[in-house]
Amino acid sequence: MNPLPHISNLAPDRTKKQPRRFMCVNPRCGDTGQSGTFERFQFNADKDTCPKCKGSGYPYVVLMALVHLLIPDPQGRIMGGDGRYRMACDPSRHYLATTTNQEAATGDPEAVNCPGCLEVIAKASIQEPTGSLIVPSSDESIEQE
Ligand SMILES: [Zn+2]
Ligand SMILES: [Zn+2]
Repeated sequence: MNPLPHISNLAPDRTKKQPRRFMCVNPRCGDTGQSGTFERFQFNADKDTCPKCKGSGYPYVVLMALVHLLIPDPQGRIMGGDGRYRMACDPSRHYLATTTNQEAATGDPEAVNCPGCLEVIAKASIQEPTGSLIVPSSDESIEQE
């Protein structure tokens, strides 16, 4: 039995390796951060119910886009316009954004918000003077299909 049947149609092709991050649009749940600008409340959860106001589902609670890091890799499973790439948090992954998964990918570490990819970035060092990341090769072996 599925304990959360109502999430079955909520981005079923979204990665299971990272937490789902939601944003509640209720202004009462938001807060003014240190920057002085109002920010809506965000939380990680399995289901789209706000822990503060208990608001539930779109359009009250919105699944946030997950932005992954793509790393150039001749063995990578993702084909780009200028070569192969692997997803930093999931080298075996062979697809990126779909119309439903609310996922995106970038080569720009500044734009990444995926916790798994940020971990990889934190371990990486910056190559001077090009500024590109040197990412330690993955421990996870890439399975061939
Ligand atoms: Zn709320
Ligand atoms: Zn990622």
